[in-house]
Amino acid sequence: MDTVECSKHGTQKKTYVCGHIADGLRHRDRVGFFTADNAPGSDAWCSGCEDRFNKAGGWVGEAEAQLRLSVLCLSCYDVARKFHTGGDPWS
Ligand SMILES: [Zn+2]
Ligand SMILES: [Zn+2]
Repeated sequence: MDTVECSKHGTQKKTYVCGHIADGLRHRDRVGFFTADNAPGSDAWCSGCEDRFNKAGGWVGEAEAQLRLSVLCLSCYDVARKFHTGGDPWS
């Protein structure tokens, strides 16, 4: 099973997000949240990556170069999704 050891949540399912979502979560800066499908923990990226993806026509060129794929644990992913879609997971 694909797991990651999170310093906050312990051993969790591994998820992949773009670097901007991971940075935004750290700096509390909302960047949007897009996923390929609605399955829990499915790969996610920000609105900037979505624009580059649409311009490039896929995860190629600039879209791929700026993706900076990062690993989040599933619990951190849920916090990130809530935050970047306009919620406040820390309230
Ligand atoms: Zn991004
Ligand atoms: Zn975590």
